[in-house]
Amino acid sequence: MLTRNDALQRDDNDPLKHKRNDFSLPDNTIYLDGNSLGPLPKRVEQRCLDVVTKQWGQDLITSWNVHDWIGLPLKVGEKIAPLIGAAPGQVICCDSISVNLFKLLSAALKMAPGRTKIVSETSNFPTDLYMVQGLTEQLGEQHCQLHQVERHQLADAIDTDTAVVMLTQVDFRSGHMLDMQKITQAAHEVGALVIWDLAHSAGAVPVDLDGCNADFAVGCGYKYLNGGPGAPAFVYVATRHQASLRQPLSGWMGHASPFAFDTAYEAAPGIEKMLCGTPSILSMSALDEALDVFRDVTMQQLRAKSVALTEYCLALMQQQGLLQHLKLVSPEQSSDRGSQLAFAHAHGYAICQALIARGIIADFRAPDILRIGFAPLYNRYVDVFDLVDALAAIINSETYLDDGFQRRHKVT
Ligand SMILES: *Cc1c(COP(=O)(O)O)cnc(C)c1O
Repeated sequence: MLTRNDALQRDDNDPLKHKRNDFSLPDNTIYLDGNSLGPLPKRVEQRCLDVVTKQWGQDLITSWNVHDWIGLPLKVGEKIAPLIGAAPGQVICCDSISVNLFKLLSAALKMAPGRTKIVSETSNFPTDLYMVQGLTEQLGEQHCQLHQVERHQLADAIDTDTAVVMLTQVDFRSGHMLDMQKITQAAHEVGALVIWDLAHSAGAVPVDLDGCNADFAVGCGYKYLNGGPGAPAFVYVATRHQASLRQPLSGWMGHASPFAFDTAYEAAPGIEKMLCGTPSILSMSALDEALDVFRDVTMQQLRAKSVALTEYCLALMQQQGLLQHLKLVSPEQSSDRGSQLAFAHAHGYAICQALIARGIIADFRAPDILRIGFAPLYNRYVDVFDLVDALAAIINSETYLDDGFQRRHKVT
């Protein structure tokens, strides 16, 4: 029998327990949605104040040099690099995942002459698929076609006609984690390039882009990296591809010498060529500061606690008989999952609303998925215990049927 005291004991023995203090978390709230929007790291508050009042307010335009605003995209990229197994010079912070995908998809298609096929999964995050559809409209079907397949059809779909394989490593709904090493190798064997979306991987699971011989990747600043709402994304281009890569959004920040104000575009030689326009300094400064939370932990430590939290959650749900009602759609094996659990229930949306009414924040993904994100930097075992307790109360009493929990908000 697992008890609440046992949960408190686990927290006491947790080698990462001090990290929770790095975050400003509201009282009486259990936050299990760091996979959608990471919470506020305490140090970010002071940094934002400083950037606004001192850097912008007092030092004005001199801050581009004095506070190295101009170097921020590269600096932030280099802070993200060790979290995703990238050696220096391959990661830069800019734009959103969607925009970075457009740059990479166009560039990768150009690098695969004669090939037109882009392979992805039907279950991929829709924006990833939309960006290919937009590119097809631009280039025409004869130059770019999206092949969406089910997961079990991936191996067959990746063939000698394939220009690009575009996949999200950790599925945003189910948390299923793809084998990056194996898929990258299979794609390379038939001459295809791979773009990895690390939205639910970066800061959540250990990633080894260089070790997997990855070509390209994108990822999110506002999920597990805690950069704040709308924080800029990042993009990775393996060193070996940087010289030949041509990205279509040839803005001045990606120019070899933006302040020469030359009339002809000449791409910067390295990863800076992925930049387009002026970086959003307020937002990027917040992300820069937020990343320092990772300075004294390893992704292996975080992974160990993440696995322990998800296993503990499932054990508690089993004990409460909840798994008959909430069907686990995440893989059973923790090695096949990211840092989240997903459960299907016909009233998934209402159950999520009932949890929120009790101060427990999770989220819902259409059509019927209750999604629970576990962030080992600040989530405690006792949070998981209280979550399962609340779930049991909601399910057993069927309070989710109350009218108040049925109304759909714009953002779920
Ligand atoms: C969150 C998420 C995105 C977000 O894309 P933006 O363009 O940065 O808003 C993209 N892909 C995946 C898989 C995501 O989970």
